[in-house]
Formats: sequence, C-alpha cells, structure tokens
Amino acid sequence: MTIKLYNTLTRKKEVIKPISGDSVSMYVCGPTVYGHPHIGNARAAIVPDILYRLLRSKYGSVKYIRNITDVDDKIIKASKEEGISIDKITSKYTKVYNDNMADLGNLKPTHEPKVTDTISKIISTIEKIIKNGNAYVIDSHVLFDTDSFNNYGDLSGKKLEEMLDGVRIDNAAYKKSSRDFILWKPSEDNTPGWESPWGKGRPGWHIECTSMIKDILGDDTTLDIHGGGNDLIFPHHENEIAQGSCISREKYCNHWFHNGIVLVDKRKMSKSLGNVILLNQLFKNNDKATIRVALLSAHYRQPLNWTSRTLDNALNLVNKIRGSINPEINSDEQVQTEIKEILSDDINTPLAFKYLSDLTKSAKKNVKDSAILLQSCSFLGLDFQTQLKRMEPSKLLTVKIENLIQKRNELRNTGRYEEADAIRKELIAIGVTLKDNNGQTEWELDPNS
Ligand SMILES: [Zn+2]
Repeated sequence: MTIKLYNTLTRKKEVIKPISGDSVSMYVCGPTVYGHPHIGNARAAIVPDILYRLLRSKYGSVKYIRNITDVDDKIIKASKEEGISIDKITSKYTKVYNDNMADLGNLKPTHEPKVTDTISKIISTIEKIIKNGNAYVIDSHVLFDTDSFNNYGDLSGKKLEEMLDGVRIDNAAYKKSSRDFILWKPSEDNTPGWESPWGKGRPGWHIECTSMIKDILGDDTTLDIHGGGNDLIFPHHENEIAQGSCISREKYCNHWFHNGIVLVDKRKMSKSLGNVILLNQLFKNNDKATIRVALLSAHYRQPLNWTSRTLDNALNLVNKIRGSINPEINSDEQVQTEIKEILSDDINTPLAFKYLSDLTKSAKKNVKDSAILLQSCSFLGLDFQTQLKRMEPSKLLTVKIENLIQKRNELRNTGRYEEADAIRKELIAIGVTLKDNNGQTEWELDPNS
C-alpha cells in the first residue's frame, strides 16, 4: 500500500515518503482550550485520525503529535467571563476536548504537548531566531522579520499585497513590516507570564507550534507531515515554516495537508449568527458513530456543509451496516480488507462509505463479507463489534433471527427450497415460529425457549 496525500506546498497529490524509513512523524494543530468543542474542531481531529490509522498500519513507528494551546487571549477572556481561574478553565476544557474526541472514536495521539509545559523551549527557540538575524526586539516585543526569509509566501502562494491585506488589522507601529509577526509579547499585570530575556511575557501563537515540534523531534529533523484546518495555511503555517526553517539545517516539513471548513446551511459557524453546533449538544440525541460518519461524509479537502439531512444520511448508513453484520462472526480472524487501499488515495472517505454500503448486501449472505464489513468499519474508527457485544441478549437474538429470516427469504426467492427449509428448522430449534403472509415473514419467539 502506498499512501498518497495532497500536499498543499506542492499543490499536488504525492506519495508519503518518511525521511527515516519505517518511522513517520505527524503534527496537527490542536485546540485552544476555553470552551466546548464544535463540529469544526471534531472534523479537524477526525481527518488526521484516519490518516494516523493508515500510517500505523504501514509503518513500524508513528509519532502523532497534537498540541493543547493553554495560554491565549481567548482563554484569559473566558476566565474573566466565567469567573474561574485560567488553570481551571484550561484543565476543564482539555478534559472535555479529550473525552469528546475519544467518544467520537479517535485514537489518542502519541504526544500531546501543552504550551505551558514548553515555555523554556519556546524561549530558546526565539533566542536562536534572534541570533540568526531573523527577528528583532522592540518595546519588550520580539518580532519575526519576514523580509529576512526569502521563501515567505510559498505555502499559501500569497503575493506581498495579499499578505499585507490579511494582516492589516494588526498594523502596530513597532513593526518594520505589517506582515512581521509576534514571537514574544509582554504580559499585563494579572495575566499569565514568564520571565524571559525580553521581560515578563508570553509567546505568540505561531512560535508555540514550531517549538513543540522541535522539542519532540529536535531542531535539525524534518517533520514528515503537518496538518490542520485550511484556515491555518495563512498566516499560521506560513509563519511556522519561516520560524522553523531559520533555526534548522533541514527543511521544516515535507508534506502539508489541510482539511476544509464545516459550514452550517452554507454559512460559516459564528457566535453572532448563533449557528455553532457543539458536540455536547449533538451527543444528547445522536449516537457517536453516526456523528463520526456525518463528519467524514464529504471528502476532507472539500467544505462539509452541515444541514438537517447530514445526520439522517449518516444514520441510514449506520443502520444499514448494523442490520447486516452477523453478530456471531468471529472477528478475530483477520480477513483481507480493501478499505485501506481506498483510504490510502488521499483519504477518500466518500468512496469508503460507498464500499461499506455495497458490502452490506453480501455481508448478510456470507460470514466472510460480514467480517470484512466489521473490520473495515473498525479501521475507520466505527466500532460496531463492541456495540453488538454490549447489546442485550434479547436484541442480539433479534438481530440473529432477522438475519436468518432474510437469508431464508433470499433462498426461497431463488428456488433453493431445501436450504431455505434447513434455516426454517434452525429457527424452530431456537424457538421461533414463522408466519409467511403475502410475501412478508412475521415471527414470534416462544418466551420459554
Ligand atoms: Zn499550529
């Protein structure tokens, strides 16, 4: 299996080739923890989770790093609004985020660094950037000098004027160029801050991700894959490349991938429109596998337009799968699956779901396809096996009886009456009475059986 993934940097689909053979590294920008995660946060975690599953199935070692941003203006604001300390806010919402992501079937990353645990590395990284002549200190701020980095703009493909437009709101007087960005800024009295060579302060957002990557991989190691939402391409990831390239002898990152935005009825989610869909609201009335299918239903590079039908469509597929899995299959037996091949072509989840839907037809008829269906779902993080095991015995029996009845009807329809009769006898043996009525089969279970 070769894993192909669209690379934002080269603007084409490319085969992933890790720099060190059988081990691969991936970093994904994680959440800023000050509130309940919404469906956009969930998509930005589920897409890399599918890629992580593919990488794990191919390579001996995978470093999957997803950070927690636990110091930020928004966190400080939320702390004031909720009247609770910054520490309490960040630990509360880190837990909520991690629980929600696990509930949605995501695997835990191998590394989950926090900004507040990485401050000394952030400071030494900034010192190195200054020493190399790529940043300047002014008014207790440290700013990255974008003119000093020739490849600035390569990732986003933006021209100088467009970049200036994008940052015009932040046109502070102390900047040499308005596209220069903050590496370190002073902290006001009662906001979080750390002692540094530039006074008490805290890091800018962009330098946090670069420092966390370098802290884990080392300054002179190229990251294989970097992901995030496509709203992060500029300026966040552009800035990461500039900082990371200036402190290293090696390329910052080989492969960049970005997922599209989640829209609600074709509109951007925003507090002012009141259309932000939070996971904790969705969890009240929907099962988690259905939400996961809904969030993977569009190709990851496309926007996902969430409408009233999105969850219904996902539920239809989930029900179809649940109804066709034979609860008695031995899922320990490893069967060949095509699912990895489908997903390895730029994480093609819409095609993966079409494959699962087609597979439900044959899964009802034979145990092997049922096992393939179950294992394919499991590969996608949809764990129906555990759900089936947790089902009450009566529900499990119902699924078994209905599967047998369906099989019997199919045999009868194709004239294979002897085999159909064998199934009828099997049903009688477990206490089921069948009534064939106008092509419909009704059944009853003897309560004493
Ligand atoms: Zn980041």
